[in-house]
Amino acid sequence: MDLADAPPALLVRRHLHVAGDWVEPADGGTIPVENPATGEVIGQVPAGTPADVDWAVAAARAAFPGWAATAPAERAAHLDRLHAALAARADEIARTVALELGTPLKLATRVQAGLPLTVLRGMVDLAARLPAEETIGNSLVVREPVGVVGSITPWNYPLHQVVAKVAPALAAGCTVVLKPSELTPLTAYLLFDAVTEAGLPPGVVNLVPGTGPVVGVAIAAHPDVDLVSFTGSTATGRRIAHLAADRIARVALELGGKSANVILADADLPTAVKVGVGNALLNSGQTCTAWTRMLVHRDRYAEALDLVAAAVAGYRPGDPFDPATRLGPLVSAAQAERVRGHVDRALADGTRLVAGGPDAPLPPRGHFVAPTVLADVHPDSALAQEEVFGPVLAVIPFADTDEAVAIANNSRYGLAGAVWSADEEAALAVARRLRTGQVDVNGGAFNPLAPFGGYKQSGLGRELGGYGVEEFTELKAIQR
Ligand code: NAD
Repeated sequence: MDLADAPPALLVRRHLHVAGDWVEPADGGTIPVENPATGEVIGQVPAGTPADVDWAVAAARAAFPGWAATAPAERAAHLDRLHAALAARADEIARTVALELGTPLKLATRVQAGLPLTVLRGMVDLAARLPAEETIGNSLVVREPVGVVGSITPWNYPLHQVVAKVAPALAAGCTVVLKPSELTPLTAYLLFDAVTEAGLPPGVVNLVPGTGPVVGVAIAAHPDVDLVSFTGSTATGRRIAHLAADRIARVALELGGKSANVILADADLPTAVKVGVGNALLNSGQTCTAWTRMLVHRDRYAEALDLVAAAVAGYRPGDPFDPATRLGPLVSAAQAERVRGHVDRALADGTRLVAGGPDAPLPPRGHFVAPTVLADVHPDSALAQEEVFGPVLAVIPFADTDEAVAIANNSRYGLAGAVWSADEEAALAVARRLRTGQVDVNGGAFNPLAPFGGYKQSGLGRELGGYGVEEFTELKAIQR
């Protein structure tokens, strides 16, 4: 596949990956893949069917006993080979994500290709140390793989979301059927090129591309899928949980967010604002953990707004393949339309526009939305409550720490957040009061070994690190 030229030749993939082979789908339907920076169709994948899901689940079921019985060190060796095969494709992965999602190439290289490699590396090390057994009185407590895992993933971090499920599932001894997002399926194909090269045993991991209502539903409702591991919107997560509930199948749900960045009065304001704006605009705001509500102490509010406007000016939307570009398009026309609708409604409600907005300049084509900052946003307003999933930042003032915590927790979501203060103990005290799965204090770095997941409607369960592996296990107590 030559991705050197943009626009490239059509990237056509015709197969599913089932039982260790590239195979023809049962039916001939296809799904076009678009370059969101131009609106052009750049590729095509098969539209899987429920019959394809049956086939893939049967392959995963057949492979399960052998893989579950494989020594952890041997499973780790397989993952190590997968890591090597994926690392050899890092450049191609970054370019493919830049093409099908529009992430600026520099960011795609660092995050979209780099992060899953880091996560997979960590899983190799963890897998080698499994299984953890524990003695409680006269009981030997063992962890066993849960079985066949159905993985359904979104488009915003198309390889990371897949690796965050597939790697711990395989490490735990589970087998997997994967359905990547229909908007960004080409990146998943690169993973399966690496699976083939790494020589993973047949059926251990299977690929069925397709739409959510067809392939996603078939996976979630399948009687032989033991755990559905889903990342995506809260609305879809709810549907999947309903489908799984019919057979009491386990679910792991990584859903939406509306995270608060709490900037206390004594914070290093230029750093807090710079990092906060970068976080909110990362991947064009299409990041579940994005700090989309910036909460600033009233004493520093005017100063903060000036800094925010200056920081946002550095994010000019443009061609993802231009090294100067820091902000790409949104993934689709529908997504761009949704985001513009959120901004329009907030402006119609009288919310103050600080930067961007409907009249800001944009590239002539592609699904671009200008980075937009709205100030004095009411904590109960739609803009402060709904996940926008675009480059839109809501700034909200607060009078004291109690009010900041109350505003931060005034959300049906609870995925991430941040606190900034010159007094680290004070920041930690606020972090402990936030009802959210992760909090970064004074710009603390993302830790791929720490548990990742949400409180409230941001999800169920945890991914990444040792806790992420546990998600794919059952506990058995053996009394002696
Ligand atoms: P989405 O829910 O529309 O789709 C996610 C996946 O589910 C896709 O593969 C899709 O085909 C599939 N799907 C859609 N309808 C389905 C159905 N009825 N049954 C089964 N599968 C179905 O979400 P999206 O638009 O792809 O992703 C954006 C959302 O994902 C945002 O809300 C974002 O916050 C969330 N997200 C969360 C995390 C996290 O870790 N918490 C990470 C990334 C994205």
